[in-house]
Amino acid sequence: MEYTYNNNNISRINLWDNRPFLITILFTLVAMLAILLGVESYHGQTQSIPESEIDSYVLPTPLQPTATHIITEPLVRNDYPPLSLSPILSMQTSEKPLPTIQVPMIATPNQAQSPERTEVWKTVTIKRGMTLNKVFSRLGIDSKTLASIMTLGNAVAPLKKLKLNQQIQLLLDGKNNLKEIKFPIDATQTFNLVRVGNKFQVKLIQIPVTTKTRVTSGKITGSFFSTAGKAGLTRAQAQQMLAIFAEQINFGALLHAGDKFNVIFTEHYAQNKKVKNGDILAVEFINKGKSYRAIRFVDPSGRFEYYDPNGYSYRKAFLRYPLNYTRINSKFNLHRLHPILRFIRPHKGVDFGAPYGAPIKAASDGRIAFQSWKLGYGKTVIIRHDGKYETLYGHMSRFANLKSGSYIKRGQVIGYVGKTGLASGPHLHYEFHINGQPHDPLKVQLPRSGTIAPQYRNAFLQKAKPLVMQLNSVNNKKSVKH
Ligand SMILES: [Zn+2]
Repeated sequence: MEYTYNNNNISRINLWDNRPFLITILFTLVAMLAILLGVESYHGQTQSIPESEIDSYVLPTPLQPTATHIITEPLVRNDYPPLSLSPILSMQTSEKPLPTIQVPMIATPNQAQSPERTEVWKTVTIKRGMTLNKVFSRLGIDSKTLASIMTLGNAVAPLKKLKLNQQIQLLLDGKNNLKEIKFPIDATQTFNLVRVGNKFQVKLIQIPVTTKTRVTSGKITGSFFSTAGKAGLTRAQAQQMLAIFAEQINFGALLHAGDKFNVIFTEHYAQNKKVKNGDILAVEFINKGKSYRAIRFVDPSGRFEYYDPNGYSYRKAFLRYPLNYTRINSKFNLHRLHPILRFIRPHKGVDFGAPYGAPIKAASDGRIAFQSWKLGYGKTVIIRHDGKYETLYGHMSRFANLKSGSYIKRGQVIGYVGKTGLASGPHLHYEFHINGQPHDPLKVQLPRSGTIAPQYRNAFLQKAKPLVMQLNSVNNKKSVKH
């Protein structure tokens, strides 16, 4: 118990230099008092009463006998200067540790009279069933204080949401008046209630967050997610890594044991403690010696996307599936026997089985070229995309009623699954045309969504350069090791 040592040291310094004679007397007194007063604290919890409580101890508060869960901390404001241990006294304390209760006689009158001296920070750990009301009454705080705090309403909401095992700090003066409450709301914010005169004010202290860049690597053994976890990435980051490449790379085929990845990402710190992982700035997958790299770019409006180091988007221009389907009822087949017409009639698209009314999305940006009934197709929408591409959506139950000729975005809902026209059940008949020729929507090579906008190209290349160099150096380091 360091307080015990400190207290002994105080007595040493006061007496050692000037009046060696008094030492003997004092030691005797100390020992006697130790026996008289110390017994209780000996047999109870070895809960030390810090020197900061010296003065308030004279007027016992309800704290001592009951509050074993209340841990008091030394004064923040009136720290004693560090004192070194005397060899003689340390021998004494090691043989017969003196209870801390002897402290009062060492306190000088000056200290006792100073009003600041009596301010004490107390740290309370919230236990099950412990209300703020209980905390206050155990600390001997006037019951009106809590009522007055609660009039602050929403500002003191964090006080009503104290979590189990949360620690809160309370500053009390010598008369158990509450001066201040402090506790962390989260890693970046501290709740601070301060008495100003007869009233209380709430301040939220923002803890400055700093961002660091970190590089991590992994070689896939077992699952990709467990490897990513071992490399210090969160599950969300691992998912994002897959999402970045998902439209470009078939990860089912790509990710297997031995594949590697390098990731450059940010980490947020508050008070030298990591708060959370931030954004993925750059990511690389290496599959059989082939590297796939993606660099993050945030445009001035705050929208971000990942591009390869040359500025090509990793996003596809088209959705492979324009709806959430339950099964594929019929594949693309130019020599199919039609199930209803019963003769060979090419199936120029894919039939996606889906519940009646399920939303159908535009596969890519484009204009509504057709939105009407089209013979066997029933209610049909045709979208004309950039240049040579067209997509067709048949058997709809109803349209989303977009204007014919209007411009729509990839993923925008254009209609709903139905069975209009020649359809035996609800499904979407979906066709993909390139230069007027039907292609298998499940197999056609989908075009990329293109390059970064020309106005951002230079900014992107400048941002990408150091990240690319970092990825290069990670790979070089690794090859040196092998
Ligand atoms: Zn069909």
